[in-house]
Amino acid sequence: MGRTVLDVGDVRKTYGSGETAVHALRGLSLSVGRGDYVAIMGSSGSGKSTLMNILGCLDVPSSGTYLLDGVDVSRLTDRQLALVRNRRIGFVFQSFNLIPRMTALSNVELPLAYAGVRAAERRRRARAALALVGLTERAGHEPNQLSGGQQQRVAVARALVTAPALVLADEPTGNLDTGSTMDVLGVLDRLNRSGRTIVLITHEPEVAQHARRLVRLVDGRIVEDVRTR
Ligand code: ADP
Ligand code: MG
Repeated sequence: MGRTVLDVGDVRKTYGSGETAVHALRGLSLSVGRGDYVAIMGSSGSGKSTLMNILGCLDVPSSGTYLLDGVDVSRLTDRQLALVRNRRIGFVFQSFNLIPRMTALSNVELPLAYAGVRAAERRRRARAALALVGLTERAGHEPNQLSGGQQQRVAVARALVTAPALVLADEPTGNLDTGSTMDVLGVLDRLNRSGRTIVLITHEPEVAQHARRLVRLVDGRIVEDVRTR
């Protein structure tokens, strides 16, 4: 498996304080090596999104440690965190989050534009990412001209285009029909076989089955962590 991509140590997250405090994560430790494919499962309210936000450097834990690619993110400034999000993490959300009235190609180029990559290189890398998800022919289409499954594959291409250490997907098939779900999972499976590290949050067992490892959350704690393939 090689290097550790993410290393979470005894992380706690509490929202609010006193009587009304909600303990969303109650001392959670998790280590994920390069090339792993982890499904995080748990019922609604178990802390999945809270964990995803912390892994994605969108939020910080109340206590505990988080190293991403060897970097202690708790020591970073907001500006540095934004850079980490842009360079080291590729996000895939349930709702695709593509920019309307922008072509698939331009959507995929966006993270590179934020990273200051020049236009010709952006275009070249965005085309390569679209090819990886099988959408070369749709590069000039806008989101509303694409099916849900195609839109999510554009979102996956956008997540990959910066060659991040980690692809984080939160319920990526939650808005898709069965056929599109299979397409998107096929893409994620292929990416993992080519060495990408993927953490996938889902409440669907059929989706979780695609991963190599299953982590189950109950009330902000890991109650199961098993290798499934
Ligand atoms: P899941 O994604 O597994 O459904 P969440 O991480 O969204 O779980 O939520 C875990 C717990 O934390 C729940 O009890 C939820 O109500 C609470 N929670 C989540 N976000 C907030 C917030 N911003 N403020 C207060 N409570 C929150
Ligand atoms: Mg959630």
